[in-house]
Amino acid sequence: RKQILEVKDLETSFFTDDGRIAAVDHISFSVEEGEILAIVGESGCGKSVTSLSIMGLVPSPPGKITNGEILLDGKNLATLTEKEMRQIRGRDVAMIFQEPMTSLNPLFTIGNQMTEAIRIHNKKWTKKQIKERAIEMLRLVGLPRAEELIKEYPHQLSGGMRQRVMIAMALVCDPKVLIADEPTTALDVTIQAQILKLMKDLNTRLQTAVLLITHDLGVVAETCERVVVMYAGQIVEQAPVQEIFENPQHPYTKGLIQSVPDMRYKKDALYSIPGNVPKPGSIQEGCRFAPRCEYAFERCSAENPALYSKSDVHTARCFLLDLEHEAVLH
Ligand code: SF4
Ligand code: MG
Repeated sequence: RKQILEVKDLETSFFTDDGRIAAVDHISFSVEEGEILAIVGESGCGKSVTSLSIMGLVPSPPGKITNGEILLDGKNLATLTEKEMRQIRGRDVAMIFQEPMTSLNPLFTIGNQMTEAIRIHNKKWTKKQIKERAIEMLRLVGLPRAEELIKEYPHQLSGGMRQRVMIAMALVCDPKVLIADEPTTALDVTIQAQILKLMKDLNTRLQTAVLLITHDLGVVAETCERVVVMYAGQIVEQAPVQEIFENPQHPYTKGLIQSVPDMRYKKDALYSIPGNVPKPGSIQEGCRFAPRCEYAFERCSAENPALYSKSDVHTARCFLLDLEHEAVLH
């Protein structure tokens, strides 16, 4: 399959009084056509800055893409002006966010907002065409009585319905890539499952590639094909989803898996990784996970590990892989 989105050696920095901070620190990954790729990590790992970088929405100043390329179907978005990005956003790459109440305008009807989203990229369409498209999209995302719904205001809808509206709006122009940043985090568990199922269905039907950003590996298990794990601005592991769960290599990934609540028994997770993600400004020499890592050894606090290949499709940033390759145990 063709790579529709290629992020190459991306660095996004924030210029603060304390100097330059790389919130996204030289990351590379790609999304294939029709694929769902997940980026997973705790809050503060650089996931959202990654998605904002792709959308050209990094607040600037103080933020700026300081290295690398973001190739969308071969076109480098990292070098486009804001005016050029406005042509791309919504049409070629669209995004949905965590809380649909804040991204829908409470003062306008659903119909108004959908019309706006359609009109930006289809200036020549008639009112009738636009209305038909809006209704078609609301039906596509499984919303009943679409004709009435377009006359309603966001507060008249449930959280799950609002998120469906956001997905409909994101897909009106048939983008090549949909970025979903914590799309289900604000929803309760049952609705969360429905929205994920909808996203997967739409991905299958429309073949829209999806970049799913989440802190919750549980969300990833049944939705995605491949997983990228981020920690403190870096990619620390990357593998197909089954491989991530069955054969995780990085201690951080292992911790994330242990902290997934067990849905089968409706139990909350018993485990949480001790400590916190380091603030981007306070990153020390050595492995960034070392202060929280139960496997850390001497070398970990002296050098920053490279990404090691476990296999063709599986990489992890941990010296344990290096030891294994050298067949040295500790
Ligand atoms: Fe832990 Fe060392 Fe691996 Fe870092 S390199 S994750 S500190 S074992
Ligand atoms: Mg975030």
